[in-house]
Amino acid sequence: SVAVEIAGLAKTYPNGLRALAGIDLSVSAGEILAIVGGSGCGKSTLLRLVAGLETPNAGSVRVGGDVVRGPHPAVGLVFQEPRLLPWLTVAENVGFGLSSLDAGERAVRVALALERVGLAEHAQAWPRELSGGQAQRAALARALVTRPQVLLLDEPFSALDALTRTALQDHLLELWAFDRPTLVLVTHDIEEALVLADRVVTLRPRPGRVDDIQTVALSRP
Ligand code: ADP
Ligand code: ADP
Repeated sequence: SVAVEIAGLAKTYPNGLRALAGIDLSVSAGEILAIVGGSGCGKSTLLRLVAGLETPNAGSVRVGGDVVRGPHPAVGLVFQEPRLLPWLTVAENVGFGLSSLDAGERAVRVALALERVGLAEHAQAWPRELSGGQAQRAALARALVTRPQVLLLDEPFSALDALTRTALQDHLLELWAFDRPTLVLVTHDIEEALVLADRVVTLRPRPGRVDDIQTVALSRP
C-alpha cells in the first residue's frame, strides 16, 4: 500500500526562491527510499513539506491517505543534529513525545527504545555527556518510540565521523527491522543511499524533474 503520496508539490519561498516546482512521488509502506541530490536542490524543503513543517504553494502530500496540513502524529523526524533538549535526561528526551501515555507505559516504551539503540546504560545521562554517535542514537530512539508509520531522516549521519556513520547506518537497518516503518532518507551521500535504500530518487535542479534509480537489496537484517 502507499504510505506517502506526493502530487504536484511546489514550494516557492516568500523571497521568491522556487525550491520545488511540481514533484510527484509515491512511497510504499515499509519501503526505504533515499532522496539524493546536490546542495540546494530542495531535499530539505521536500522533507519539511512531508513533515507538515512548511506549507506548499501547490500540490499535496498524503500520509496514510490523510492530507498533511501540519505535523502529523504518524510521522517521525530525525535531523542532521540530534536536537536533544539539554535540560532533560536522555530518557526524558526520548519520552518527550509520549505525554499522552501513563507514566508506567511511557517508562516501558522508553526503556525498550533505549535498549534497542544501545543506550540503556545512559538513560539518566545528560545530552552533553553523550558522544555525537550516541546523541544521534538517542534522536533515533526519540523518533521511533512513538512508532511512526513514516520516519523522515534529513542527512541523519552526515555530521558524524566515517566509522560512527557506518555503524549507525547498520544500526538504522536493524532498528527498521523491528516495526518496518516507511523510511524517507535525504542525503547528499550517494553511497549511503545505495547502502540503505530499496529505491533511490534523485532530485534534479531542473524544475519538476525526479529520476528514479532502481536498486535491488541483496541483504537485509
Ligand atoms: P537541500 O536540502 O537540497 O540543500 P533546501 O531544500 O535546503 O535544499 O533548499 C532549496 C533551495 O531553497 C535553496 O536554494 C535554499 O537556499 C532555498 N531555501 C531553503 N529554505 C529557505 C527559506 N526558509 N527561505 C528561503 N529560501 C530557502
Ligand atoms: P538542513 O539541510 O540541515 O535541514 P537547511 O540548510 O536546509 O538545513 O536549512 C536550515 C534552516 O535555514 C531552515 O530553517 C531553512 O528554512 C533555512 N534556510 C535555508 N536556506 C535558506 C535561505 N536561502 N534563506 C532563508 N532561510 C534559509
